[in-house]
Amino acid sequence: MSGRAQLMWDEAVTAYDFGPEHPMDPVRLALTRSLVGALGLDREVEVVAARPAGESTLRLVHRGDYVDAVKAVSADPGAADGSYGLGTVDDPAFAGMHEVSALIAGQSVGAAEAVWRGEALHAVNFTGGLHHAMPGAASGFCVYNDAALAIARLLELGAERVAYVDVDVHHGDGVQAAFWGDPRVLTVSLHEHPSTLFPQTGWPEETGADGAEGTAVNIALPAGTGDAGWVRAFHAVVPEVLADFRPQVLVTQHGADTHFEDPLAHLAVSLDAQRAVQVACHEFAHEYAGGRWVALGGGGYAVVDVVPRSWAHLVGIAAGRPVDPETVIPEGWRQEVFARTRQLGPMRMTDGRWPVSWAGWEAGYDPADRVDQAVRAARRAVFPLRGLLA
Ligand SMILES: [Zn+2]
Repeated sequence: MSGRAQLMWDEAVTAYDFGPEHPMDPVRLALTRSLVGALGLDREVEVVAARPAGESTLRLVHRGDYVDAVKAVSADPGAADGSYGLGTVDDPAFAGMHEVSALIAGQSVGAAEAVWRGEALHAVNFTGGLHHAMPGAASGFCVYNDAALAIARLLELGAERVAYVDVDVHHGDGVQAAFWGDPRVLTVSLHEHPSTLFPQTGWPEETGADGAEGTAVNIALPAGTGDAGWVRAFHAVVPEVLADFRPQVLVTQHGADTHFEDPLAHLAVSLDAQRAVQVACHEFAHEYAGGRWVALGGGGYAVVDVVPRSWAHLVGIAAGRPVDPETVIPEGWRQEVFARTRQLGPMRMTDGRWPVSWAGWEAGYDPADRVDQAVRAARRAVFPLRGLLA
């Protein structure tokens, strides 16, 4: 019988640091971990530090020449010249880049192994979800694609069907690319439309290669989409494709950059809606995947106000002790926030938009609504390929 949920954590992950000018400030990971502790959630889970992903594991997804290039700039950051996406504005090279990227990947691979072997029913690695990394290049703040590696490891262990659901504001392009032609992996991404946001992919017409048609699902939402539209779009597509695909494991990516305060994107989602979708992912794992759930972090650049609260909710849900949105945040954590960042931390575990309500797909359909048009495009592109009614 599986034990408590696992929370993957090794203090050394905070060395994933592209420098003081870069939006992906590792303080977001440290503050999330300490908020999890301040809320007492770490007593409800088994906290595990997995080993870094080794060479053979990294090569399940990444090309050998790319791994060699990461190692080279990791040892000598000054040598990075932009090749392989390393040494760019988005992905500057830094000393130890290979080691910490492999450590983060190892936490997601370890989470996948624990869930597959039944050591835990749920496992969370909020330090992962680095979904833009490509087999042969760094991209979008991501060096090694821990999400793709976790899925690849599940396949290596014998899984025949793995579903990946990505609700980061950006398209989960690297994971989609890694399994584009693999019918064993269903990738679903709910994101801001590629016409207004990096990485400019994730069009509904992207549905998978020959032999894997209908295993890539893309819901591209208009800029400005808020709670009701975001949650409605999620429910209008995700449960139907999961029910049809019948995954053995559900891997989810919970980038918090959909939030209205996020500085890098243009959706208008609240913490409360993010929590509602996390709860739904947990329920879907039980309903469609035998409870086997690997939950990852992702983007999120409102590093004080949003990311720690969003992922602390995720840990609480996986731990079987969801945090009440009205919970007042312990003062000690807020003092730590001020000491580390000179910013005032949030007071409560809600944005005051709780509970989140939305209309069901059939009943609430409005052909003039831009969110409904986006949902319709996604369903029309992929549902017939799966034998489902669009
Ligand atoms: Zn993102």
